Amino acid sequence: MKTPDAGLAPGATIGILGAGQLGRMLALAGARLGLKSHVYAPDAGEPAFDVAAAGTVAAYEDEAALTRFADAVDVITYEFENIPAATASFLARLRPVYPGPLALEKTQDRLIEKRFLNDLSVATAGLAVIDSADAIEPALRKFGGAGILKTRRFGYDGKGQAMICDAANGASAFASFGSVPCILESVVPFTREISAIGARGRDGSFRAYDICENSHTNHILSRTEVPARIKTATADRAREIAKCIADALDYVGVITVEMFFIDGTNGEALIVNEIAPRVHNSGHWTIDGAVTSQFEQHMRAIAGWPLGSTERRGRIVMDNLIGNEARRWPEILQEDGACLHLYGKADIRDGRKMGHVTRVNPEQAD
Ligand code: AMP
Repeated sequence: MKTPDAGLAPGATIGILGAGQLGRMLALAGARLGLKSHVYAPDAGEPAFDVAAAGTVAAYEDEAALTRFADAVDVITYEFENIPAATASFLARLRPVYPGPLALEKTQDRLIEKRFLNDLSVATAGLAVIDSADAIEPALRKFGGAGILKTRRFGYDGKGQAMICDAANGASAFASFGSVPCILESVVPFTREISAIGARGRDGSFRAYDICENSHTNHILSRTEVPARIKTATADRAREIAKCIADALDYVGVITVEMFFIDGTNGEALIVNEIAPRVHNSGHWTIDGAVTSQFEQHMRAIAGWPLGSTERRGRIVMDNLIGNEARRWPEILQEDGACLHLYGKADIRDGRKMGHVTRVNPEQAD
């Protein structure tokens, strides 16, 4: 069943590290294709366990549990990039892990990630290494007096980052992060935020979706609209950047590149913010709004199957249901054309992603 060139056969088992909503939607997409999923996560209450064929509840450091998991699956993937590198390399000795360990190495640390991007001639915000509070003042001077302090590791949804306007508040932010290694970034005067989502197959083929335009509330994605309001040439460039990154990582699976879009006096420009080596919240619209969803595409890629069409079915608005917004489910169900997705999370909490709703307007397809 595991001959790499032929790809997996239906009935094969995909191992998924992490059991949140991304793992859940991966498992659902796999099931439609006759693939079983075995999810692995430390917390039994997570939403992917409800829909997977098998589950392991164990720590990411539990080598006996990891070995049993690897024995039970054909390939391994993950739904989030902060799985310990040691876990990924331990598993990679037992089964193919897609995307491979290089993708994790380059994306878990913001400094390594930005240097990797700059080596590919991909533009990023200005960057300074902050290993001590003393390094903040000269870096701020370089960036015209303001910058964004970010921890090098484990940041997401705005956590581990702070806007800095002087050395004193920089020092207190640095201390509040536990004085861990950080970077300071220049503030990008962006017009809008966009993401490019594509997939690379085991044969090196690449297919990307139309570019997503993303709005955030309290640093959490609230709405994605597709297509993004950018010129065709800029959208092509955004997809090219994603392909260039995927090729450089010899990547297999869905990759997301978050970018800042600047509509400046000298024309349109793109600055890459970060790479997510996985399916992404801004791609949830593809379930209802594209011929092949990002989740199916990821499963196809890691199974060694041909990638599907990324064609869009219309003009898209996807709204996240965060915290109490999920209580609107009865009214959303009454709306024709609103595609409701709930993640089966028991407790509603502020800032918690509980579900999403996608509206596809076929009349306005470009
Ligand atoms: P991140 O955790 O890097 O994805 O950043 C979260 C959000 O902070 C982004 O979506 C932007 O809205 C904002 N942000 C991050 N870095 C910068 C930057 N260098 N310049 C301006 N805004 C930024």
